[in-house]
Amino acid sequence: MQEIINADISIIGGGIAGTSVARELSKYDLSIIVIEQKHGVGLEGTSTNHSLVCQGGDSLTFRPGTLHAELNVKSIPLWPRLSEELGFKFRRMGGLWLIRDYSDYKKFQKMVSRAFRSTLDPKSPLLIPEGSFSPLRFVDKKELKDLEPEISDNFLGALYDPNLATVDPPEVAKAYAENAKANGVDFLFNTKIKRIKREENKFELYTDNNVLIKSNIVINAAGIEADRVAEMVKARDFSYVPLKGTIVEFDEEVGRSISHATMILPRGSPHLQVVSPTVDNRLKAGIYLEMTFRSDKEVRDYAVNYAISVAKTLYPALRFESHITRSFAGFMAMTNPDTGWHDFVISTHDFVPNWVNIVLGAAGVSASPMLGKKVVEILTKSGIILKEKSNYNPSIRKRVEP
Ligand SMILES: Cc1cc2nc3c(=O)[nH]c(=O)nc-3n(C[C@H](O)[C@H](O)[C@H](O)COP(=O)(O)OP(=O)(O)OC[C@H]3O[C@@H](n4cnc5c(N)ncnc54)[C@H](O)[C@@H]3O)c2cc1C
Repeated sequence: MQEIINADISIIGGGIAGTSVARELSKYDLSIIVIEQKHGVGLEGTSTNHSLVCQGGDSLTFRPGTLHAELNVKSIPLWPRLSEELGFKFRRMGGLWLIRDYSDYKKFQKMVSRAFRSTLDPKSPLLIPEGSFSPLRFVDKKELKDLEPEISDNFLGALYDPNLATVDPPEVAKAYAENAKANGVDFLFNTKIKRIKREENKFELYTDNNVLIKSNIVINAAGIEADRVAEMVKARDFSYVPLKGTIVEFDEEVGRSISHATMILPRGSPHLQVVSPTVDNRLKAGIYLEMTFRSDKEVRDYAVNYAISVAKTLYPALRFESHITRSFAGFMAMTNPDTGWHDFVISTHDFVPNWVNIVLGAAGVSASPMLGKKVVEILTKSGIILKEKSNYNPSIRKRVEP
């Protein structure tokens, strides 16, 4: 016998996108279900990234007029309070954009002025409340050495972003999910959406688990599978390529020697050069990027060797090889691979009402505090009336996983 579940809103995907949206929507008087094919939340893209709460690291960083900047900038002041409310670890360690030559310096000058225009100019729609953002500033070689004593002598200085932070993204996804659950959201694990039928403005979601979900509104938060899910109802008005990134993690012994995220601007190669501490004093280095099939999850030696070489270029005196704890590869959806930058997709569809597509790609974890608010904004704009609950509690948690 097939089980039928009725819900006002179905959220497909229990990554950082699905769980953060579920938490925000749990503030409203709605029945909501999150459907996740894995056995828990945050087990796909949300668990295979660099764990940075950052602004991206490409030409969209702080670029006004993009969704990327809007959500990431507005999320900066929300993170510390969120971590207190939900009880997850949040470490603001600051980031150093390393300067090799005058060309880097010129690029970083542009980043500083974009950051100022986005965050500190009183006319900016993204203006950050006073006290929640420290301006970016240049540090010379001596100060760079004071901040990171083990850094290579080859750098002339750095652009210092004191706002850069780190979290454990699966821990954050779990916190969002558990708070949503305590506020009434249901979760269905080990259940994959296979097919969706649209009748008038209602959706029927067919699963591989003998469960049929009937819903008025669907939020497609399926990560790298978002295109395939959107295709089920002909609501795919975006395209992207799956970009695979390989990262190596090192233990606390070497991790304790480095206290900031340290980065080199990509030049002449698509790969990123980032070495950064985690919330629990381990270290992540990478990122070897390649376009490949999304099923190709194998971690290859050349990608691991690249990540180790990045760590050694930045910190030549540290012995990384004997401190590797694991290496892993993850996928992000890249909407604009030709130029190397990427903006988020968060939108309703012109011809499929009550359907919302979310494609995050790079820096999606960082944007998650604002993501649900953006979804509420676009649902409201499309004419859906959301009624706030009087008994929403921002801090309580209830176990979600079976
Ligand atoms: C190498 C790398 C480094 C990165 N570093 C950072 C960083 O430092 N900081 C940052 O902010 N961002 C970073 N990102 C980006 C970040 O990881 C993503 O933006 C984010 O994880 C996307 O979350 P999501 O919820 O959209 O996707 P996911 O976490 O992948 O969640 C989607 C979920 O949908 C489920 N699903 C899919 N299809 C179905 C279906 N048919 N039925 C049911 N469930 C389904 C999946 O199982 C999955 O759990 C990085 C990405 C990569 C690849």
